[in-house]
Amino acid sequence: MEAVRIVFQGDRLWLAERDLPELPAQAQVRLPEGHLALRVAEDHPVPEGVEVLGLREAFARMAPEAWVQAGRAYQWLAWEAGHRFCGACATPLAPAEGHGRRCPACGLTVFPSNATAVIVLIGRGQGADRELALARSPHFKPGVYSAVAGFTEPGESLEQAVHREVAEELGIRIQNLRYFGSQPWPFPNGLMVAFLADHLEGELKPDPVEIEDARWFRLDALPDLPSALSIARWMLDAAVEGRG
Ligand SMILES: [Zn+2]
Repeated sequence: MEAVRIVFQGDRLWLAERDLPELPAQAQVRLPEGHLALRVAEDHPVPEGVEVLGLREAFARMAPEAWVQAGRAYQWLAWEAGHRFCGACATPLAPAEGHGRRCPACGLTVFPSNATAVIVLIGRGQGADRELALARSPHFKPGVYSAVAGFTEPGESLEQAVHREVAEELGIRIQNLRYFGSQPWPFPNGLMVAFLADHLEGELKPDPVEIEDARWFRLDALPDLPSALSIARWMLDAAVEGRG
């Protein structure tokens, strides 16, 4: 793939119809695969033929591979912007090997990292009686339900995080945990790791703070689902097609 420039203005992506001129960058990062991610100033004039879009909006307008690349560029820029000073002694950081940054005063070295989250789609029953446990967070669009998700905590395995989140958010226990896949989630620096599981025991008792509602839904009577942007939807589509 040819190296390209991926341009952000604040949190928004430039979608260009044609090649862009040289641009003054507030920040720039060379990605490992050679692409250049750069951020221009908020007051930089937008060239003719360029549309400025949030990453979520851009999803529907771009080839999947290009959108993933833009998300990567966004994550690298966000990491650079948030790691300018040493967290231990506040000295400005200098470049280090392997895309890291090193403190010239105390030697602390930091590397780009993800906030790792887990998501799990829980089923019970067989064939036409198959049901899925789906939940609503208060910040979802009205009517939308999805699989439960949460961030891993330091010192925890992915599997432990799944069992803990399910117990906390739904009040049930699960079994037969199976890896489904993963997705970089550039809002701003996530890695979502997805699992399928079966219900083991317990009735749904949603966490009153994080979950507005949780229910078992039959496969032929599912509620509104999240958009095709997210791995949550890919799992739900797989479940409907009998693959999960
Ligand atoms: Zn330091």
